[in-house]
Amino acid sequence: MMNTGKYWNPILETLPREKLRKLQLIKFQRIFKWAYDNSPFYHDLYHGAGIEPGDIRTLDDIQKVPKVEKSMMRAIQGKEPYPYGSILAVPLEKVTEYRQTSGTTGQPVYHPETWRDWDWSAESWAYILYAHGFREHDRVFIPFGYSIHIAFWAAHYACEKIGCEVVPGGVLDTEARILKMRELRCTALTATPTYILGMADTARNKLGINPAKDLNIRKITAAGEPGASIPATRKRMEEAWGARVYDHAGATEIGHWGYECEAQCGMHVNEALHLVEIEDVGTGDPITEPGQGGSMVVTTFDRLAHPCIRFDSKDIIEWNSIEKCDCGRTFRLLRGGVSGRADDITKVKGVLLAPNAIEEVVRAIPQLCDEYEVVVTKKGDRDNIALRIELLPGREAEIDAVQGRLIRELRVKTDLRYDLEFCRYGSLPRYETKAKRFKDLRK
Ligand SMILES: [Zn+2]
Repeated sequence: MMNTGKYWNPILETLPREKLRKLQLIKFQRIFKWAYDNSPFYHDLYHGAGIEPGDIRTLDDIQKVPKVEKSMMRAIQGKEPYPYGSILAVPLEKVTEYRQTSGTTGQPVYHPETWRDWDWSAESWAYILYAHGFREHDRVFIPFGYSIHIAFWAAHYACEKIGCEVVPGGVLDTEARILKMRELRCTALTATPTYILGMADTARNKLGINPAKDLNIRKITAAGEPGASIPATRKRMEEAWGARVYDHAGATEIGHWGYECEAQCGMHVNEALHLVEIEDVGTGDPITEPGQGGSMVVTTFDRLAHPCIRFDSKDIIEWNSIEKCDCGRTFRLLRGGVSGRADDITKVKGVLLAPNAIEEVVRAIPQLCDEYEVVVTKKGDRDNIALRIELLPGREAEIDAVQGRLIRELRVKTDLRYDLEFCRYGSLPRYETKAKRFKDLRK
């Protein structure tokens, strides 16, 4: 299966697992020592915990290394070396890229990269796009605002690494982007699930273009939201575009650590560039076998300016029971992708609710539009959960059937009762990047 591409060769993806694990230990030791020696933040953290580079002799020893989390990074930024604070592990003048996190809550985390780190970021994206079938002959449209967020910046550079031709969608609006894709006969694109569906909607309703028939897009890399690993959402995107849609996962501080391959039986963890551990959310015990989801703790090897070592990402993931993937990659598989965030899983009426479960129900109902909104409120002591949905034009007469199906399936999937609010088609908010569809107004 391996590469014929001119510029890039993902040879590490098929290393035998023992070799891969050895490589991971060496890489962990190297980044740990780098951070200990060069980042005052990490030095103090490890010194305080009584651990130093010589103490990491096996992969099991890694458990002794203190974890870090986003709040710690927020707390040190804004100080010298400005604005990154004492986590910075290179001289400030070596930084060539500024980005910030795009999370939906709180103050963003500032993210510096050196030119070498930036090349590494493109490398990690190249693994993703190559696994999704991107090759030299592809003309890739990137409908992204090239903003202060990292989003698809590295995807752009990764396309070039693989040898694709890149069309930067930049400041064009959605309609202009679609027309440009058609004009240039682009073959692939990358966007968030929300925007992938939104663009198809605009194409059909505003331009009279059916993306599945009138455009040449045949593969799409989804990012930023879990949609592509939710079967009902994936199906909607694939039908709308007549294309294969692939998922991957990543975050600004961590890099892009996981991706589906063409076999699509879960997400491969990029174990050449990351160490991914799964921990029980309650006890913090390591989870090494399939069958139980937990919170991801991730270490990013090789990225030097802003090291990311045992970062508690709060993403909920689970190991896959499939050990050997048909694609030939030896990187370990997850079951599905990121199934939620530890922060998002919330108690409503005493029941644990993962918002993805609602999406799975809504998007599987063909009479409903792609958009929906969930609002949790409190009246007195009682939680109230409302689900706002839109019927597609022409399907209004089927409202009773839809209502019955929603109540039934939501009950089975989430064990909760909802106030259903059918909204006028087009009245719910549309999003270009990360959507905010779950609103908890109880606090
Ligand atoms: Zn595979």
